[in-house]
Amino acid sequence: MRMNVQPVPTLSERVNEIRTLTAQIVNKEILPNENFLWTWRTDARFTESDIEHARQLREDIKRKVKEAGLWAPHLPQEYGGAGLSFLEHAYMNEVLAYAVGAAALFGVVAPNSGNQTILLKYGTEEQKKKWLVPLIEGKMESGFSMTEPDQPGSDPRSLKTTARRDGDEWVINGHKWFTSNGKRADFFIVMCRTDDPDGPADRNGKMTQIIVPKETPGVNVIRGVPVWGNRDSDHCEIIYDNVRVPVTNQLGQTGTGHQAAQDRLGAGRVYHCMNSIGQMWRAFDLMVQRSMTREVHGGTLETKQFIQGFIADSYIDIQAARLMTIHTAEKMEGGGDPRTDISAIKIFVPAAYTRVVDRAIQVWGAAGVSGDLPLAGMYEGARTLRIADGPDEVHKILIAKNVLKRYHGGQSWDFGN
Ligand SMILES: Cc1cc2nc3c(=O)[nH]c(=O)nc-3n(C[C@H](O)[C@H](O)[C@H](O)COP(=O)(O)OP(=O)(O)OC[C@H]3O[C@@H](n4cnc5c(N)ncnc54)[C@H](O)[C@@H]3O)c2cc1C
Repeated sequence: MRMNVQPVPTLSERVNEIRTLTAQIVNKEILPNENFLWTWRTDARFTESDIEHARQLREDIKRKVKEAGLWAPHLPQEYGGAGLSFLEHAYMNEVLAYAVGAAALFGVVAPNSGNQTILLKYGTEEQKKKWLVPLIEGKMESGFSMTEPDQPGSDPRSLKTTARRDGDEWVINGHKWFTSNGKRADFFIVMCRTDDPDGPADRNGKMTQIIVPKETPGVNVIRGVPVWGNRDSDHCEIIYDNVRVPVTNQLGQTGTGHQAAQDRLGAGRVYHCMNSIGQMWRAFDLMVQRSMTREVHGGTLETKQFIQGFIADSYIDIQAARLMTIHTAEKMEGGGDPRTDISAIKIFVPAAYTRVVDRAIQVWGAAGVSGDLPLAGMYEGARTLRIADGPDEVHKILIAKNVLKRYHGGQSWDFGN
């Protein structure tokens, strides 16, 4: 099934062009090859020449993405990116995410894309040359190492990893986990406490992000943490044991670590939500298509009211999630304060996504949980999103705090803005 993307009369010509060009690549190049492009990793029936053919196909698609001017939508043109505005990128994501794994073919894969954005904003010219350029060129991989097993990630001020200054070096000690891309990474951006590490713990103390090459002595990648029943993963547990790096590896001023994390996560949450909408769109198409063809108890599924209810509920979930996310992206683009809206979509969209995929799985029966369809992977991704980048409860607290602050200040909420 092809994704149906038509120009939207209220959108700019440029956004319509981006959506249409992205859909053309998704429909013509990616969807017809989707199972072949990636499943060789898990399917032993593929031969060496199949694997090589899949690699060539991926390179071919990347070339077409570049020719269409869509490569690396998050990067400026001077760094080989598409130079899209925030809103243009958000609209592109809902289309490219329809196809499994398409982000890699469009050059925008987390955590590399987030690290690129941070290096662009906080990196010195030398750091950009050494880390950013090879990352963009695909000659290096990276990870973002913030969460710790023994401290709540929901409360980043509690992080314990320290960086102590010794002459021209930072000496890093700490225990991290869920550092995604950890096995492939050539370097990590590590969140460290850099306020007087010898003094008493200060909750509001300063954090700094520091670049740590993986080959540095003392960087011990212990394991890939098993996730969702898979025995291994690329979300790694890492011990930093007296790791010494030059002070020139520090990103930005000492103490800007929290701000840099917010810069990364705020935009990332909107992009993740637009991706989720593309995936919901796919799950919806799959569900409706199946309901029209599967015969049960004397009629196709579409004739049963239970299933009609699924179609209506999923339609409502997708529209609501999409409009909320676009509203937030417009606010970001327009320079407004989007923090309450970001928290709202970070709660609502993954929950809506979970419901939409859950219904699609139900309609497909056993096939729904099989690896033949993308639904099972989507379900895991949707559930995981309710924890990663800040769990639901933390975002609810933030919404209530922002709303109450305004009412205590003698104002009320303006839902039009
Ligand atoms: C697949 C995956 C990939 C990840 N990739 C990365 C990565 O690349 N780099 C990285 O640094 N981290 C990464 N993470 C970690 C992620 O950011 C953290 O899991 C997240 O911030 C939550 O922290 P935690 O797991 O320590 O949960 P905790 O902070 O221990 O929270 C556990 C639960 O407590 C509840 N809770 C928390 N605060 C409150 C409150 N105030 N009131 C009520 N309830 C509350 C919530 O339900 C929450 O889910 C990844 C996680 C996953 C699952």
